[in-house]
Amino acid sequence: MDTKDEQLVAGIRQLCKKKNAIILAHYYQEGDIQDIADYVGDSLALAQWAAKTTADIIVLCGVHFMGETAKILCPDKKVLIPDLNAGCSLADSCPADEFTAFVNEHPDHIVISYVNTTASVKAVTDIVVTSTNARQIVESFPKDTKIIFGPDRNLGNYINSITGRDMLLWNGACHVHEQFSLEKIIALKKQYPDAAVITHPECKQPIIQISDFVGSTAALLKYTISSDKKQFIVATESGVIHEMQKHSLDKEFIPAPPNDSTCACNECSFMRLNTLEKLYNCLKYETPEIVVDEGIRQKAVIPIEKMLKISAELGL
Ligand code: SF4
Repeated sequence: MDTKDEQLVAGIRQLCKKKNAIILAHYYQEGDIQDIADYVGDSLALAQWAAKTTADIIVLCGVHFMGETAKILCPDKKVLIPDLNAGCSLADSCPADEFTAFVNEHPDHIVISYVNTTASVKAVTDIVVTSTNARQIVESFPKDTKIIFGPDRNLGNYINSITGRDMLLWNGACHVHEQFSLEKIIALKKQYPDAAVITHPECKQPIIQISDFVGSTAALLKYTISSDKKQFIVATESGVIHEMQKHSLDKEFIPAPPNDSTCACNECSFMRLNTLEKLYNCLKYETPEIVVDEGIRQKAVIPIEKMLKISAELGL
């Protein structure tokens, strides 16, 4: 870390103390942001921490829908995000007006939405899920329940395949998780025959099928800590390798390559918009702030709180 970054880190710590602010960072953030955060976690953990914090300000180092989720849960707190342009291609693949029309066309279905959605989509949802609890929440409904699942078609297909359900899927996807190359992962597996292929369920079915383990970001991290394996080919956003390596210094983590070898497409360009400098400025000037319409918030909080309640009952 250079002197400028050290000064920024010191400044961020001072501002957090002075303003009673807390930094929540997603596993897909740059390593220097993960290192300064009060908590690092996946979407479920970030929502859980936001719901219980006593801080006056929450700085969400992640993408916009994560900030919205924190604001929905904590309307009286100031929720900041270092870069307001940090969006999400998966959330963008589910425009609220189109999704609402789809829901209205199927009044006999309940609606389960992945947390990677806007507040307006959550407002027409019965229960929110994350990749950590999606299977258990889907299975908590009777087998013959008609379900709409959105917006990720890959996660929806995966949950259908492991639960035997036939949920009606919204046709959305994440541009990072859809980019991984099956051929290149198979070639890597030949190069590292003892490596375990570990995969996020937002990836396409053929990659899931050749994987040794499939799970949420938090589940992948836990697997690498408890596994006897020494090498892992990691098919999710490569930022999580920072945390994996911290827990397992003796293990090797190989990022799964994207189809296009000319881009760093296994990094989420939205997540990487956040920097230490932007984090410092957002704490100093208390902007950009996440704002959610109160009418939408009151509807959106219901399916999020249902998810948090079921997750707590399941010990997740
Ligand atoms: S990795 Fe994909 S799902 Fe996650 S924030 Fe980036 S675009 Fe959205």
